[in-house]
Amino acid sequence: MPEPQARTLDVAIIGGGPAGVSACLQLAKTGNFRVALFESEADLGGIPGSCSGLFGLRDQRRIYTGPGYAKHLNRLARGTAADIHVNATVMRLIPGREGEFHHIQVASPEGFRLYAARAILLATGCYESPRDARLISGPRPAGIFTTGALQQLVTRHRLTPGARALIIGSEHIALSCAFTLRQVGTSIAGMVEEDDELQTSSLLSRCISGALCFPVFRGTRVHAISGVKRVEAVELITERTGERKLVHCDSLILTGRFRSYSPLIDQTEIDYDPATFGPVVDMNLMTSVPGIFAAGNILRGADMHDLCALEGRRAARCIAAHLETGGSKSSETVRIVAEAPIRHVVPQRLEPELVRSYRSTLFRPGPSVQLSRTARVCVLEAWSGSQLVWRRRYSKLIANTRILMPFDEFDWSCVDRTKGIVLKLTQ
Ligand SMILES: Cc1cc2nc3c(=O)[nH]c(=O)nc-3n(C[C@H](O)[C@H](O)[C@H](O)COP(=O)(O)OP(=O)(O)OC[C@H]3O[C@@H](n4cnc5c(N)ncnc54)[C@H](O)[C@@H]3O)c2cc1C
Repeated sequence: MPEPQARTLDVAIIGGGPAGVSACLQLAKTGNFRVALFESEADLGGIPGSCSGLFGLRDQRRIYTGPGYAKHLNRLARGTAADIHVNATVMRLIPGREGEFHHIQVASPEGFRLYAARAILLATGCYESPRDARLISGPRPAGIFTTGALQQLVTRHRLTPGARALIIGSEHIALSCAFTLRQVGTSIAGMVEEDDELQTSSLLSRCISGALCFPVFRGTRVHAISGVKRVEAVELITERTGERKLVHCDSLILTGRFRSYSPLIDQTEIDYDPATFGPVVDMNLMTSVPGIFAAGNILRGADMHDLCALEGRRAARCIAAHLETGGSKSSETVRIVAEAPIRHVVPQRLEPELVRSYRSTLFRPGPSVQLSRTARVCVLEAWSGSQLVWRRRYSKLIANTRILMPFDEFDWSCVDRTKGIVLKLTQ
């Protein structure tokens, strides 16, 4: 497959969000590598560029607005020796064999180009499930947005989505979306959560719904949308009682249900995790193909921007070590998987020798899990075959929030490497 005219690089970074830019900055510090960053949008910065809220605390140790943070990252990246390609979409990834170059095909205003890189970082982020993936049937009037579309509309184009909006979902980003709506004078008809427990802190949600004057409907889901040209009302149904309620609104905002954005690994030999929809990585953030790494929300759906940035830095350090030592596939790894309602665990391949040196802290994102629903008074357990290797009791675990996994506390003497580890949640 490699073509003779490929431009050669040490590292190609795909995605110019917090993870990709932070990796680029770290590589600029770490070594003498030829680095290029490819971003399909016109500016670097990724999702924060269109978000309202506070950004930068853990990675930049300063607070910015979303657009301010994106501009700051852009400025920093352009101050390095790396080649920054914007409006440049990586269309195809062609992994090489061990010790060979990997190739990417890039489409940009200059045309199609082929690059050969010794290492690649996938940092393409995540997206929200649209209406179809949530099985909301019925007519298709205008006025149905994801949070991402809403944020673009408001922050980048200063447009308002409508006069009255209903928010579906209750995680942190749903709350930030309530502020975005009020910023442009859209009133909020309510926030709807399918589960009885919210996917955020109840206190925070009470404060915000109280301050912005909107009701929160728990244990409730969308039953039908009415309207021909434009949304006119949404019928909600409460699962337990069967009670139906008609909420008049002209906009519906779908939040959450984030999925890794990883089409580049389709049809490649890179191992894919059906739980995250992204690549499987080891403790060095390397995929199953030596030299191809991944960091940020491509690994797990929506996590905080600054944790993604710190993870990008970590990936860069691992890439530098890989290039300097001519590294190869991790020697012996133990596969770890999670059972529902644990949505996923990252990394998915553990090296017992490394767990002690790789502990998560507030400023050092490491191994973690996320739940698909909020759980109170619960126990997380790790099993290897019939052996319990770790357990911890929690009073509350909030859905879709990073829960740190202390792998160094596992009883590794009881782990059967052939059976791997299964994480379970009991209540
Ligand atoms: C709608 C939405 C709202 C969010 N709101 C918040 C919030 O308020 N606060 C917060 O902390 N987090 C929020 N998040 C989480 C957000 O994903 C992280 O904040 C952070 O942006 C993740 O960084 P990242 O670098 O992994 O990905 P991203 O920021 O998503 O960056 C990925 C970049 O890769 C580029 N890209 C993708 N594919 C290609 C390709 N093939 N070629 C070239 N470039 C490519 C994209 O254009 C994008 O710029 C939100 C996420 C979403 C989806």
